[in-house]
Amino acid sequence: MGQSLSCSGNYDHGLFTAVQHGDLEIVTTLLDSDPSLLHQTTLYDRHSPLHIAATNDQIEILSKLLDGSLNPDVLNRHKQTPLMLAAMHGNIACVEKLLQAGANVLMFDTSYGRTCLHYAAYYGHSSCLKAILSSAQSSPVSASWGFSRFVNIRDGKGATPLHLAARQRRSECVHILLDSGALVCASTGGYGCPGSTPLHLAARGGSIDCIRELLAWGADRLQRDASGRIPYMVALKHKHGACASLLNPTSAEPLVWPSPLKFISELNPEAKALLEQALMDANREREKNILKGSSYSLPSPSHSDGVADNMSEVSESELCCICFEQVCTIEVQNCGHQMCAQCTLALCCHNKPNPATACLTPPVCPFCRSTITRLVVVKTECHDETDQDSADINCSKLSKSSRKLRHLNDSGSSSFKGLSSVSSFGKLGSRSSGRIAAEWLDKQ
Ligand SMILES: [Zn+2]
Ligand SMILES: [Zn+2]
Repeated sequence: MGQSLSCSGNYDHGLFTAVQHGDLEIVTTLLDSDPSLLHQTTLYDRHSPLHIAATNDQIEILSKLLDGSLNPDVLNRHKQTPLMLAAMHGNIACVEKLLQAGANVLMFDTSYGRTCLHYAAYYGHSSCLKAILSSAQSSPVSASWGFSRFVNIRDGKGATPLHLAARQRRSECVHILLDSGALVCASTGGYGCPGSTPLHLAARGGSIDCIRELLAWGADRLQRDASGRIPYMVALKHKHGACASLLNPTSAEPLVWPSPLKFISELNPEAKALLEQALMDANREREKNILKGSSYSLPSPSHSDGVADNMSEVSESELCCICFEQVCTIEVQNCGHQMCAQCTLALCCHNKPNPATACLTPPVCPFCRSTITRLVVVKTECHDETDQDSADINCSKLSKSSRKLRHLNDSGSSSFKGLSSVSSFGKLGSRSSGRIAAEWLDKQ
């Protein structure tokens, strides 16, 4: 696919070279003198000037050509559109301009039967991927085809964009696609025939980030490909040891994003980001434990190590009353009870990661047992510098804290039993927080 777009020969009067190098003046002069040059193509690959501009990120020239009402979907020898080439090279400005000009996102090339979405996913250009997805959402494609069908569109070999992104180790694209409704267990075989899932291809590519994403969206470690292999065996065959450890069906299951829950699909972006981060952190912890016994270690930087340090700056009255470790960041709407993101997630996942067995009835608030219908991010109050003084905690905070603690105490709480990380009262004492314990006693 990586054809070079060198432009030899002077039959085009230098137009292609000028387009390639972004020489707008020459392009303008040439086209003014002979408008038919616009429809010239290169000799072998039959690239139009638009293809060359899109490939070389010549946005000015691309815009000029499109403003001259050139068909944005002109095809080259392999029936590639300029949009496919722009997506292949990650030229986001050109992708956006072509989409604005009405480029069709539902064209298939003849090399692999791929669309522009496949190109963006394969080459890992997440900004292009997002632009194409968002255009597809508002274009006639979603009306005629349905958006989710577009996200799961297959190439000539049955691969969806998610398959390609997983195979090419493009974890960011994997995430975007899953978030946009890509089917995590899609098989290249299609319609019940055996084939490879994105997890098989991620195992082959050896990207632990892609595997983590796929597992967190409920990918099945036991699904078999056309040769009867599970992803674990594929990773072993390609000598990706750390990946194999995570894919080993006997190792601990990761938490799965509870997407079937209605209020999860309705989260606002802020709350969603918090919970997703909590999910990834929890799964990284699991990975560490899985890999501890093996000779593999994770290369990823441990960004969550700073949490403990931040905690000392946080007033204990904001601590989650379930784990007493994290700050409350999520609030159950209506009852107003607050928890940390980790505990919220534990509540929603029920520690049953397999979507086939996951409980789909919405969880209840552990404090008042009302059914959770909506989660929002806790609005933090602004402190000025003087408020940092721990002696100067304001009253509303105190009462909020005591309210939460009282609820915890009252509810005796069988509903706590589903949570994995309860019973850390011991840690409360060790947290140098005589103050919160004293407050609590005061209110009894
Ligand atoms: Zn918590
Ligand atoms: Zn509640």
